[in-house]
Amino acid sequence: MDYFPAFLDLDGKPCLVVGGGEVAARKIRLLLAAGADVTVVAPELGESAAALLGDGRIVRLARGYAERDLDGKWLVVSATGNPDVDAGVFRDATARRIFCNAVDRQENCSYITPAIVDRSPVLVAVSSAGTAPVLARRIRAKLEATLPARLGELAALAGRYRRQVLERLPELSRRIRFWERVFDGPAADRALAGEFEAAAAEMESLLTAHDRAERGVAWLTGAGPGDPDLLTLKALNALQSADVIVHDRLVSAEVLALARRDADCIPVGKTPGCRTNSQDSINELLVRLVASGKRVCRLKGGDPFVFGRGGEEAEALEAAGLDYRVIPGITAAAGCAAYAGIPLTHRDAAQSVVFLTAHGKNSIDSLDWPSLARDRQTLAVYMGVRRFPDLMDKLIRHGRPADTPIAIIERGTTSEQRVLRGTLGQLMLLAEAHQVAAPAILLIGEVAARGAAQGDTLAGRPAALIAERVVERRGTAATARTSSIPA
Ligand code: SAH
Repeated sequence: MDYFPAFLDLDGKPCLVVGGGEVAARKIRLLLAAGADVTVVAPELGESAAALLGDGRIVRLARGYAERDLDGKWLVVSATGNPDVDAGVFRDATARRIFCNAVDRQENCSYITPAIVDRSPVLVAVSSAGTAPVLARRIRAKLEATLPARLGELAALAGRYRRQVLERLPELSRRIRFWERVFDGPAADRALAGEFEAAAAEMESLLTAHDRAERGVAWLTGAGPGDPDLLTLKALNALQSADVIVHDRLVSAEVLALARRDADCIPVGKTPGCRTNSQDSINELLVRLVASGKRVCRLKGGDPFVFGRGGEEAEALEAAGLDYRVIPGITAAAGCAAYAGIPLTHRDAAQSVVFLTAHGKNSIDSLDWPSLARDRQTLAVYMGVRRFPDLMDKLIRHGRPADTPIAIIERGTTSEQRVLRGTLGQLMLLAEAHQVAAPAILLIGEVAARGAAQGDTLAGRPAALIAERVVERRGTAATARTSSIPA
């Protein structure tokens, strides 16, 4: 962060504007709107600045800038259009520890002013830290278009109820829930339509309803394989409404960043080789939280019901008589295959797809190998990195040809995605040469040879970049993002 974002209370505070042209007039207007006592020093005033004098709150000094003008000031704007004068004002102000903005001269600014969307008391400020003002203005234009015109009135109405709500709903999580209902429901609709009395009535009835105790709930939520854009709208909603987020290690930081800011985040990740939370203790935690009235988002990688033990958590909540919902997510096989350009089924190559896990020795032995070794089907192997030797051996022994195409997709759908292609017989070689690490998914079957021309396609990536990656892949460098062993 290059700048510290803050909103200044300038009400009744002396501020200095050096210069009297159009730009200075714009700054004077903003300062006056914020309630500042403005002194303008300029030998001459332009038309706009002169018109503002009528306001009566401006002290006007009809001469050039002098250092003593800074006496007692909180903030300075220098908009003379003269680089030497602006630089001098900045130097003097800085020596006195007064914040100064020389308009359009970033080197002479100790603060910068953002592009704003004003729906007072709601104020949105956008800054690109001076790197791309046009971009900041475009963002502002988008916000202008999306934020309702009466947003400020809605906020003001909420402000009038704040104390009452604080007294009647002393518990923070219930207060937050109340306000969410206000802003997502008819109370807000009415206020935004300008029907303030009806809006106030809606608020009253919501407040009465909220005096009653509320039940907790758990959302068993799929976070998808990594790319936050693959979250469903329901998952996003759960993330932003929950009081507590209980999440797996696989859930990416970008996804967690979308959670409500004041939500408690409890990681219950299972890290290989480290002390792990047992499934029983996770179940108990969920039951305890929901029973105490919390709204819990139980966030899991991919889909909660695909190798996610979501079923066990649902049963524990059910047995305790608690409320829960399941929010499906994009499972790793679907997400990773899509981003690697590999169709899981294809009319010419695979009529079925099997999701299997090769987690432990027992699960490997209990699989139906003769059936898995049949052709014209795609195998998507979860959690298998350490079991690759067993897997390769069993499939080949049961008749799947060693030249069956495979693809290993590591950290699929994230910016670190690697796609390694080869054949079943090369599985170990490929995994070792590229030091494949979890999380990785293995796709086995004729379809794995498809989409190869695209390299690792991260959705939305420009074609030029994709082409570059194909070249990398052909180079088969160990560091390449997409690699294969030449046939
Ligand atoms: N519920 C999850 C799976 C959990 S099991 C889902 O539906 O996807 C964890 C395994 O999923 C990992 O060992 C790996 O095999 C696979 N996996 C999850 N995220 C992945 C990713 N981004 N890239 C590759 N594999 C992934």
